[in-house]
Amino acid sequence: MRIALISDIHGNLEALQTVLADIDQRIDVKAGDRIWCLGDIIGYGPNPVECVELVAQRCDWSLLGNHDYAALYEPTNFNSAAEKAAYWTREQFEAETQRDAGRGSRLWEFLGKLRVRVKEGPFLAVHGSPRKPINEYIFPEDGFKKQRMQPIFDRFEWICLVGHTHVPGVFTTEDFLTPENPDHMQDRTFQFREGEKVIVNPGSVGQPRDTIPLASYAIMDVGDRPTSVNFIRIPYDIDAVKAKIFSIEKLDNWLGERLTQGR
Ligand code: ZN
Repeated sequence: MRIALISDIHGNLEALQTVLADIDQRIDVKAGDRIWCLGDIIGYGPNPVECVELVAQRCDWSLLGNHDYAALYEPTNFNSAAEKAAYWTREQFEAETQRDAGRGSRLWEFLGKLRVRVKEGPFLAVHGSPRKPINEYIFPEDGFKKQRMQPIFDRFEWICLVGHTHVPGVFTTEDFLTPENPDHMQDRTFQFREGEKVIVNPGSVGQPRDTIPLASYAIMDVGDRPTSVNFIRIPYDIDAVKAKIFSIEKLDNWLGERLTQGR
């Protein structure tokens, strides 16, 4: 079985559609392959409603990210552009509910049922970290800080799946390994080893922040046991998303600019 991991879509429909089409080329959901979403379906981007519907349709499940939480309940620790975007996002769901009560209630219900952590076999999935699942960041530079990482590694058994930082890669107990460095990974693929705890971040579909402006996701190979995870980057129509963001007053232009810069 293969499992596609997507995360941090952030209302970027063009990126999500491109990634899902790419996933369909590589795995076969009808034959039992799966798609998991690690949260932040919405926030920042111009198509929150469409993204939630597509994730609901295509993914086995999704986690609750801090931006999903912000639109549903309240933004916590957000800068002003992010907070404005969160309120605008909530308005889109409210407007949809006005237009079509049935569709609206399905959207709210899906958002309201997003889980904070999912345990499946050897995997623990959380949006941020196993310690503070919604809000704690595990940054690449943390990979070198043993004292900081130890309590995080103590909280899961083998493979932890996270999003939140928008930076793809694998944390071992010693290091952060990036698919961009051939000394870290061959063919952008990390091999799981029994007994070696790791944290996997597939990167962000809709707002990559590693200065590479390509949508990011990952596919894990899982037979009887997980064997490997492959990191994938693909181009999508950034200009189309930017044009939409620029046309919406409550979305700061920077939210469009940063897509081109990959940060
Ligand atoms: Zn995010």
